[in-house]
Amino acid sequence: MSEDDRPFGSRTRAVRAGTVRSQFNEHSEALFLTSSFVFDSAEQAARRFAGQEEGYVYSRFSNPTVRMFEQRLAELEGGQDCLATASGMSAILTLCLAHLKAGDHVVCGSNVFGATVQLFSNVLARFGIEASYVQGSEPAAWRAAARSRTRLLFCETPSNPMMEVTDLEAFASLGRELGALTVVDNCFCTPVLQRPLQYGVDVVMHTGTKFLDGQGRVLGGALVGRADFIRETLLPALRTTGPSLSPFNAWVLLKGLETLPLRINAQSASALQLARWLQSHPAVARVLYTGLESHPQHALAQRQQHGFGAVVAFELKATQSEARPRAWRLIDAVRLLSITANLGDTRSTITHPASTTHGRLAPEVRQRAGISESLVRIAVGLEDVEDLQHDLERGLQA
Ligand SMILES: *Cc1c(COP(=O)(O)O)cnc(C)c1O
Repeated sequence: MSEDDRPFGSRTRAVRAGTVRSQFNEHSEALFLTSSFVFDSAEQAARRFAGQEEGYVYSRFSNPTVRMFEQRLAELEGGQDCLATASGMSAILTLCLAHLKAGDHVVCGSNVFGATVQLFSNVLARFGIEASYVQGSEPAAWRAAARSRTRLLFCETPSNPMMEVTDLEAFASLGRELGALTVVDNCFCTPVLQRPLQYGVDVVMHTGTKFLDGQGRVLGGALVGRADFIRETLLPALRTTGPSLSPFNAWVLLKGLETLPLRINAQSASALQLARWLQSHPAVARVLYTGLESHPQHALAQRQQHGFGAVVAFELKATQSEARPRAWRLIDAVRLLSITANLGDTRSTITHPASTTHGRLAPEVRQRAGISESLVRIAVGLEDVEDLQHDLERGLQA
């Protein structure tokens, strides 16, 4: 979205991009809650189905409200096109169904979202697709894990909950060299803080459920990338299998995107303040946050991100047997932060990854990923940072 040759900024795109008005010229984007669309004639119906005429057919694969969300998110990511899905997980599933076949191999960062690992290791494995896991922050590890049948490199950066950063330029260039599709789960940064396509990555994957909605209301997901890949490879898979975004959820997400730049910047600023405070707290062993100079990849994060995000993880000081009870005492003592696995909400949340989001992983896999029993993750919302600090202080003293 641009005016003359001057591209609009994120805030302008977030409120303006993708809007298409109906015959009523409504100012706020309309919710087209309809499963199908009417044709003027039998001949037009045939043309629409054959793809010879532009126009809406059936909401499993085409809906104007969903399309507005797709175009707004594509504009924010700087991508040519976008395909919306029912959830973040169905975005990854659709991508894999469309792009992989039995015998193919995937290299994935070991610190990606728990369900992503389950999808590769338990679901796709049954269809003859193999996955290897590597430390996402080690460019050499990605290369070492590659095989002749490697067709997909998948990373999440910064990762959840360990905040490992993958060098996007090196990641994209390895994918090109191997002839493998590179995909980045851009959940934590959102397009406001990081645009992986700029570094040559092929596809950006999103969960709409987290920061894009931002208010913990709906599930949604999306894939952003080159128009030919989206329209010719991904869309046919979605059309056939049906994990489509509902128009209502698309409308909620479209409205969510409008405030995304304001929210993520405010939440990141509070997160940085809390991370600094936690780092100096006597009950805290270490803080994982890319905005801290102590983070081993702070310089890389500074280079490829426009901010550090709203999620902070920290480990408490405790002996091994005391670690879980210590973390749980903190979580149970806070009153303001919500105990929930969701993140990206305007309301701050607190989670114990080892027993919740990453609880289904085998203990040795969890250990390898560095997710200890004393690790606590907070996702900072829009409350006053002083109130959050006061609340966490109560938990740290518990
Ligand atoms: C939540 C989450 C997902 C999955 O998204 P859903 O919308 O819940 O399916 C994927 N990646 C990350 C990083 C997440 O936090």
